Amino acid sequence: MEPATAVKTEETFRLADRVNRISPSPTMVVLAAAEQLKSQGVDVADFGAGEPDFPTPEHIKRAAIQALDENRTKYTPVPGIPALRQAICEWHARELGSSYQPSECVVNVGGKHSIFNAVCCLINSGGEVIIPSPYWVSYPDIVKYAGGKPVILTTTAEDNFVLRAADLEKLITPRTRMVIADSPSNPSGAVIPPDEFAKVLAVCQRHGVWLLADECYSHFTYGDAKPFSIASIPGSKNNLIVVGSFSKTFAMTGWRLGYVLAPQPLIAAITKLQGQSTSNPTSITQYAALAAMRGPMDSVAKMLEEYARRRERIVTGLRAIPGVTCTAPQGAFYVFPNISAHYNAEMPNDMVVSKLLLEREHVALVPGEAFGAPGFLRLSYATSLDRIDEGLRRLGRFFGQAR
Ligand code: PLP
Repeated sequence: MEPATAVKTEETFRLADRVNRISPSPTMVVLAAAEQLKSQGVDVADFGAGEPDFPTPEHIKRAAIQALDENRTKYTPVPGIPALRQAICEWHARELGSSYQPSECVVNVGGKHSIFNAVCCLINSGGEVIIPSPYWVSYPDIVKYAGGKPVILTTTAEDNFVLRAADLEKLITPRTRMVIADSPSNPSGAVIPPDEFAKVLAVCQRHGVWLLADECYSHFTYGDAKPFSIASIPGSKNNLIVVGSFSKTFAMTGWRLGYVLAPQPLIAAITKLQGQSTSNPTSITQYAALAAMRGPMDSVAKMLEEYARRRERIVTGLRAIPGVTCTAPQGAFYVFPNISAHYNAEMPNDMVVSKLLLEREHVALVPGEAFGAPGFLRLSYATSLDRIDEGLRRLGRFFGQAR
């Protein structure tokens, strides 16, 4: 017997418009290519990874093991266990000078999920979101997924990639709903000076625009730059969304935990969305995070010391390569050199440069194009000094021959 309706394969597999609007993360693509080489036994100098190479601190791991032993393996409240929401508010107040209540806090499945939730709760079709470039790869795609329009504000290496309030104000239109700023920044390592950040907030307040401050790298700052939250400024809370993550600060990328601090109505909306999508983040992870918030910060200080040594080594090494210029990053664990002086007929852009670097020298890094900044490369120095030295040798050889 004939089926009532024929199966239309093409139609069946037509994806929803919202998914067709986004692309795979370019950093994931690079990581996959490097992993492929490694699996063939190739010695890759890997500057691709955007994650700490340190293990999660012992006291945090132990708390997770204890949670398992105590069978804390059930659903938790959607916005997170009350003790964790309380501990996050206390930690943020202690470390960064804010004043949030647990009702103004929700935990999510990583900082990326926090941003996703906040953007999906606030951005309607056509809503404009201003994103400074170079930007973290996921911001524009999350905005597009929500139906919004990313509006890119270009910052420059000459100005250390700092977001300036005056430039921001020029891009605000009646359709602007949000500005997303990460400080320290991935990929540039730029830190927005507190007085400039206050001006950015004032512009947002004047125009009734949300400021989403992504603080995932808050505790990795160098030189004069210090951990800073815009939430420490009195009167900042009305239109401010703070996003934090356990991934980088506590070397917990695989555990997947982030949080939002924001006005209570937005927290309620995020909780509603999360309640119909992921539900609570993993229960065991939440107990581990509780130990991170209540425990000592000395492991974070040790990681910072090591990052500082590596930063020094890699910036000095890159600057020693003729034709490569490199601003000194003030935070995070990335350097963002300009290599455009090396362009030629065979190597016309940074995407070809990074492809050839992987093929010829087995150096993995991410082209600036992925971050909306052609002409640059992003190198993560979340890798040992030895590997940094080896990578610099290969880069020196590559660019020496390329010129
Ligand atoms: N924000 C920035 C700027 C990042 O670089 C990352 C991760 O690379 C995230 C947010 C998200 O981190 P996670 O989802 O692991 O918390």
